[in-house]
Order: sequence, then structure tokens, then C-alpha cells
Amino acid sequence: MNTQEIYAALGLSDADVKGGDLKVYSPIDGAEIAAVKMDTVAGTEAKIAKSVEAFKAWRNVTAPRRGELVRILGNILRDKKEALGSLVSLEAGKIYQEGLGEVQEMIDICDYAVGQSRMLHGLTIVSERPLHKMREIWQPLGPVGIISAFNFPVAVWSWNAALALVCGNSTIWKSSEKSPVTALACQKLFDMACAEFGDDAPAGLSQVLTGDRDIGETMVASESVPLISATGSCAMGRIVGAKVAGRFGKSILELGGNNAITVTAHADLDLAFQGIVFGTVGTCGQRCTTTRRLFVHEDVYDDLIPRIKSAFAGVSIGNPLDENTLMGPLIDEDSFNNMQNALEVAKSNGGEVTGGGRTLADEYPNAYYVNAALVEMKGEMNNIKTETFAPILYVFKYTDLDDAIHRQNDVPQGLSSAIFTTNILEAETFTSETGSDCGIANVNIGTSGAEIGGAFGGEKETGGGRESGSDAWRGYMRRMTSTVNYSTELPLAQGIKFDTE
Ligand code: NAD
Repeated sequence: MNTQEIYAALGLSDADVKGGDLKVYSPIDGAEIAAVKMDTVAGTEAKIAKSVEAFKAWRNVTAPRRGELVRILGNILRDKKEALGSLVSLEAGKIYQEGLGEVQEMIDICDYAVGQSRMLHGLTIVSERPLHKMREIWQPLGPVGIISAFNFPVAVWSWNAALALVCGNSTIWKSSEKSPVTALACQKLFDMACAEFGDDAPAGLSQVLTGDRDIGETMVASESVPLISATGSCAMGRIVGAKVAGRFGKSILELGGNNAITVTAHADLDLAFQGIVFGTVGTCGQRCTTTRRLFVHEDVYDDLIPRIKSAFAGVSIGNPLDENTLMGPLIDEDSFNNMQNALEVAKSNGGEVTGGGRTLADEYPNAYYVNAALVEMKGEMNNIKTETFAPILYVFKYTDLDDAIHRQNDVPQGLSSAIFTTNILEAETFTSETGSDCGIANVNIGTSGAEIGGAFGGEKETGGGRESGSDAWRGYMRRMTSTVNYSTELPLAQGIKFDTE
């Protein structure tokens, strides 16, 4: 499919992708693929007001019926999977398989949310007072503001929107300024779902905001938006989290990672090899769960590291829409410069760098393709504490597992972690209270590639939010505790006597 065919399949017209001020360049070759219109601050406020009205109508629709809208959306996504997956490749530079995978994740969360729409359960709790009943009731919140990063341009919206909608909320989505076209495409698909669903879906139930961070800031500041679910860098989350807390709003923060794999002396090295290579080069190192640090036991270091170096050198790099490509481009020049700066810093601290340079510059002078870098940290520096959003794997040798786990945890971020071992004592230590401190701790699986059934998110500067499966739906609702007295007395809790006679 060419660009025009992709747009047509997704219902995007010239009015959507031409004539605007926000120019969109494909990371594949740097070509301009769209010029979309940006929202203004006043326009954003109007959309928020519309979202409030939509919420007031939507909360009255029963939850299973709300689930029906999400079921229809999931079916439309099934029909449009190839087109939307291709657009993800075109706009974000992911390889086609990962573009398809991202849309599959949208379909999966829609299916999950449809089931959830019949399971918004609360507890019943025994009362200490006679002839009293206590229960928890979960209520919708209001408009949910979603902020997303460029590297998961469509899935992050769906993780939030599918659950928020079945919970009875409206949504407003501030997409990344680097990937607005995929957001506009999702809006088209959502509008199609609403048309099929009928009048129960109010106008403005889900809306997209296009523009820079000032648009996001307007949404973050609005008291009409009780929940902000923000995905992006720790720097962004630090600002957004504080602003939402300042107005006593709720936030779900899904921020940066600095993920590590530990390979013990008892590891199946073939498995570890596969997990490490996919974890580092997948999405060209631009996943929040990308493997960035590797702790390798000294006994297996010399077996494993040369294999990884040669795999990095042999990875097929190129146009992400070509089925044979395993590694597409970095998102832009800034990203390339950040990668090169990080490699210089590593070198000046005793790191031995293999790979990491620019490639295909003749074929794509306006795009940034790189070889994955493996950096053996042999100097004083025994850890890396910042996230560079690029395919760089820092490798550290270790002797003692407790020391490896300590170093894994001794960073500000806490998203994903993994251990490769066939030794049950090591595996269970890693997932124990003295083991990994991350939101995700895998055994014999790499750091990236989570399923939607589990709660996704991380600790510390990763923000503490949880999305997707498990009980993440509760984050999109407010908990009401209700005690009902069906006696003719009014006994007080804790046995307090308060005689008004
Ligand atoms: P970014 O922080 O630059 O931007 C993310 C979004 O935040 C964009 O839509 C941007 O416009 C918006 N934004 C920035 N400042 C804002 C402000 N002050 N107020 C309101 N909105 C604001 O991130 P990026 O470069 O697009 O994405 C890469 C980062 O995202 C990495 O750090 C990566 O680890 C992280 N990420 C985390 C997860 C996760 O689930 N934990 C998932 C994907 C990406």
C-alpha cells in the first residue's frame, strides 16, 4: 500500500492531512507525509467542554452496552489492521510486523474491555453494626485525558480508551506531535464504530487534540478532566504529575525505563541470546521496555557477548515496510544526536563501543538509520542511570547475583527487568521481595513485549501507573463506599454513644 492508499483505507481525506501547520515527516526517508491542523488553546477548551457533556450522557448507558461500542471498534480494527499497521510504520518507523503487532494489541485490549464491561465488580463488606450492609460501588470519573508518546502511537490510546469507555468515561487524546496522523486515523475508526453503534454514543465521546505540548498543558490544567493518563519521558511526567496533583486530580503516569536483563551462569544461552537481541534492536531501541543494560555472569560472558556482537552486526536494517527488515530508523535527527552523545560519554568512561554508527546515509540522507551498539563497560562506571532512547546495550560483567540485582535496581527508573536462568533458586530470588524492584520482572523472557492481560507499568521515576489488564480498570473509576442501615436504630460505628434525646 502506498501513502494515499493507506490514507484512503483509513478514511483520511485531503482535508485531514493537508494545509495545516504541523508538518509530519516520515522517519523512513524524511519525506513530508502530512501537514495537519493544530488545535488552539481555545479550541482545546471547547473540546473539553464537549467531552464533559458527552460524559454526562455516556455514564447513563449501561456498562455492557458501552462494551458493545468497544466490541464494534475492535472489529473495525480487525478490518483495518494492515492499513493502520502500515501507517504506524510510515509515521513512527516501526517495522511492519511491529506495526501489525501494535494494532493487534489494540484489538486485544478491546476484547478484554468488552469482557470487563460485565465485570466492574465491587466488594460487599460485613458491617460491625447490626442490620447494616456495606458495599463498594465503582462509578465513572468524567473526561479522561490521554497523553501519548510517539513510539506507541496507537496502542497507548487504546489501552486507556477501551477501559475508560467501558467504565463510563469520555476521553480526550493529546497525541504526540511526532505522530498525529495515526491519531487522526484512530479517530476516523472510532467515528465509524459510533456510526454503527447508534445514538447511544454522544457526540464528542472520544476526541483527538493535535498540537504541541501547550495543548497538552491546557488539558493537564483543566479541572474538568479528573484523570490524566500520561505516557512519555520522565521529564514530562515530572511536570504533568505535579500539575495534576496540584489540582488534586488523578494521574496514571507511564514514563521512561532503564531495563536490564541478568544472565546467570545457569542460563540457557540460546534463549538469552534471542531475548537480548529482540529487546535491544526491536523498534530500533525505542520501546519503553527496550533492553538497555545487561548483567552477565563472568562464567558465560565470553560465550554470550561475541554472539550478540555478531547478531547486531548482521541485523537487516532498512525501510520498515520491507518485510525482510528487522530494524527501522530512529525517529529523527535529535534522537540520532542523543545516541551519539551517549556513546561518547560511555567511551570517555572506559566503555568499549562496538557498532552504533549511522548507516544507509547515502540512500536516506534525510533519515537516521543506525547499527545497534554494544558497549562493554570495563572502567570504573559499573552502571548506567539514564535512558537514551536508541539501540544501545550496556554490558556489565558480574560475579555475585545479589550484586547484579543491586545494580539493576540502583537506577531511578523501575519499569521492566528479566533474568535468564534454569536455576529455580536464582529465578525465585529475582521475583522475591529482595529481588527486582520493577513493575515487570520476567524469567526466561526478555524485558519487552508485554501482553495486555497483565497490569503494565513501573515503579520509581517510571511513575507508578498501571494500564491494561488485571485490575487496571479501577484507575478509570472512583470508589464509593456505601453503608445501608435497614434497622430502626441508628447505632454509631466504634460503639460511640451520642444521646440526642
Ligand atoms: P515525550 O515526553 O517527549 O512526549 C510524550 C507526550 O507528552 C507528547 O505527546 C508531548 O507532547 C507531551 N508533553 C510533553 N510535555 C508536556 C507537558 N508539559 N504537558 C503536557 N504534555 C506534554 O516522550 P516521547 O519522546 O514522545 O516518547 C519517549 C519516552 O516515552 C521515553 O522516555 C519512553 O520510555 C517513554 N514511554 C513510556 C511508556 C510506558 O508505558 N512506560 C510507553 C511508551 C513510551
